[in-house]
Amino acid sequence: MAVKIDGTALAAKVKHQVAAEAAALSRRPGLAVVLVGEDPASKVYVAGKERDCAECGIESFGYRLPADTGEKDLLDLIRQLNGDGRVDGILVQLPLPGHLHAETVIHAIAPDKDVDCFHPFNVGRLVTGDPVFLPCTPAGVMEMLDEYAVPIRGKRCVVLGRSNIVGKPMAALLTQRDGTVTVCHSRTEDMAHYTREADLLVSAVGKTKLVTPDMVKAGAVVIDVAMNRDENGRLCGDVDFAAVEPKASYITPVPGGVGPMTRAMLMRNILTAAQNHQA
Ligand code: NAP
Repeated sequence: MAVKIDGTALAAKVKHQVAAEAAALSRRPGLAVVLVGEDPASKVYVAGKERDCAECGIESFGYRLPADTGEKDLLDLIRQLNGDGRVDGILVQLPLPGHLHAETVIHAIAPDKDVDCFHPFNVGRLVTGDPVFLPCTPAGVMEMLDEYAVPIRGKRCVVLGRSNIVGKPMAALLTQRDGTVTVCHSRTEDMAHYTREADLLVSAVGKTKLVTPDMVKAGAVVIDVAMNRDENGRLCGDVDFAAVEPKASYITPVPGGVGPMTRAMLMRNILTAAQNHQA
C-alpha cells in the first residue's frame, strides 16, 4: 500500500515557517486580492487565500469589482497597486469575465509583485533556471516530493496536461531537477504507453478516473493535481485513488494533497516578494 502524502500537514508547516519569517520583517507583507464578478468558486478561493494571509501575518487588501468592470478600470487599479508601497503581491483571481483578457491583465502586473508567477518575465526566469517566484501548484508538488525524499534525478517523469499554470511549469521544474520528462496532452496517442514507464506520474488534466491502475508502474509515485467533482458531487482528482493506491509507492489524496500546498506556496511567494522589497 502506498504512503499517502499529507498535503494538509505539510502546508501547515510551510505556513508556520512563512509566519515566522514574516514576523521578522520591519513591515508586514501585503497582498492585494482582486476579484471581478460573482463567480461562486472564485469567491471561495479568494476567501481561503485571505484566511491564509491572516494566519501568516500577511495583510490582505481586497478589491471586489463588479462583473461589468471595463478593462481600462481594471488596468488602472493594477497600475495603482503596482505603485502602492504596502502591497508586495498582486493576485487577480481567474477566470475573469469573458470581456476581459487575462493575458493583458497579467502582463500589467509588475513582475516583482507577480506572486502567482504568471507574468512572462517570471515564466522566462523560471525556464532559464533563475526564478524569482515559483508557480504555486508545481512548487507545491516539488515541496511534497522533497519532504518525502522522493528522488527525481535521472527518473522518468510523466506529466499529464500542458497548461501554462500547471503542466508546463511542472515539466520545467522537474527538468531542472534532472528528471527525464515527458508531457502528455489531449492529442497524445496511446498515453498509457508513457504513463506505464513513469517512476513519477503527475496528473493535471481535470478528468475523473483518467488514471487507472493498468496505466501505473508498480512502485510509481503518483501526484494528483486535479480538482474534479465525481458523480456524487464530491471533490476528487484524475486518479482512481482506491484502485491505484495499492500499486503506487507514494500517492497524493484529493482533497488533502496538492490543493493545500498550492495555497501555502502562494504565501511563500508573498513573503519572498516582501523580503525582496525590504532588502
Ligand atoms: P487546463 O488548462 O484545462 O489544462 C488541461 C490539460 O489537460 C490540457 O493541457 C489538455 O490538453 C489536457 N487534457 C485534456 N484532456 C486530456 C486527456 N483526455 N488526456 C490527456 N490530457 C488531456 O487545466 P489546468 O488549469 O492545468 O488544471 C488541470 C486540473 O488541475 C484541473 O482539475 C484543475 O482544477 C486542477 N488544478 C488544481 C490546482 C490545485 O491547487 N490542486 C491548481 C490548478 C489546477 P490540451 O493542451 O491538448 O488541450
